[in-house]
Amino acid sequence: MSFIKIKPWISELPEYIPGKTIDEIKKKYKLETVYKMASNENIFGPSPRVYEALKSVLSEINYYPDSYNRDLRGKLEEKTGIKKERFIIGNGTDQIIEMFCDAILEKGKNIVIPDPTFLTYEKSALKNNASIIKIPLKDFRQDVRSIASAVNADTAIIFLTSPHNPTGTIINEKELRFILEKISSDILVVLDEAYIEFIKREDRFNSYELIDSFKNLMVMRTFSKIYGLAGLRIGYAAADERIIKSIEKIVQPFVVNLLAQKAAIASLDDEDYINKSIDIIISEREKLFNFLNDNNIEFIKSYANFILLKTGAGTGKVVEELLQKGFIVRDGGFLGFPEYIRVTVSLPEINEKFIKTFLCIYEKHINKK
Ligand SMILES: *Cc1c(COP(=O)(O)O)cnc(C)c1O
Repeated sequence: MSFIKIKPWISELPEYIPGKTIDEIKKKYKLETVYKMASNENIFGPSPRVYEALKSVLSEINYYPDSYNRDLRGKLEEKTGIKKERFIIGNGTDQIIEMFCDAILEKGKNIVIPDPTFLTYEKSALKNNASIIKIPLKDFRQDVRSIASAVNADTAIIFLTSPHNPTGTIINEKELRFILEKISSDILVVLDEAYIEFIKREDRFNSYELIDSFKNLMVMRTFSKIYGLAGLRIGYAAADERIIKSIEKIVQPFVVNLLAQKAAIASLDDEDYINKSIDIIISEREKLFNFLNDNNIEFIKSYANFILLKTGAGTGKVVEELLQKGFIVRDGGFLGFPEYIRVTVSLPEINEKFIKTFLCIYEKHINKK
């Protein structure tokens, strides 16, 4: 009997395998506590104001949310100085990436991305039959010269990430300007700043300020990381008003739910809480760097809330044994770095436990000299 025909390129993709939940891991390894250090979420959770805001809107969930996200746009304008019409809000930045690819890409066009990088860029381009030009990292950094040189007449989007996932390295203002000045202004440059808040203040630049001079720049940020709202799915981007207006025509009206909108506003309002979380994570990151240095373990100096560290040929075993002890980390093999693991910086007491457990496992598998 015949069956529904799926587009060939989808049929050829490998099967989707969902990640394991904390509950599944507890059961499988008979553990009471499991520490998730795999997806770069904020272990502190959101500001207490978020819970208050959520409670107060529970009685309204029978209504559709505001499709234009007016209150959140207003709050973003107040906090950033960027006009509210210049924002687009999505069901996570993942969705914003997809919207822009849907609007811009088609067969014959290409995107230029660093390799490796965040998988969503490539996935969203493939869906639109576009081709992918991959530019290898250089010393674990995005190589802006090679990226700019790789651009051709069919290039429609360049995706840059700062801090980059999974290395945690950054693009500085000079490098971003270099690309923007070198390429044609009809190529969209997406700067994904999902982890911007974890860059020390003295190392940051305000990329929003470049949107005025470069109409083809889009800056993306998310509530999933420092703001602690990954489970609610909400992210945003800022760009020239004309780009945003075009994309708005194709977005489904209610992709950002009511709870997410309210939570995002409340979390933007509690700057003290966010700043305290940032300070702790940065100081914990330093502590982890020191630990790795002291034990001669290779790692990439990260500006984000995760660290890519080298576990060599024994990576699979290290990941599995960490799991048995209740620590979920990301195997670099899935991220383009087969001999590494990516570990999310967590709370002080969890990092402390991680360090001890990791060192035992590492010495068993790696340091057998
Ligand atoms: C986590 C992450 C995001 C955020 O995605 P959301 O869909 O907003 O949760 C975006 N870009 C990168 C590189 C990330 O690592």
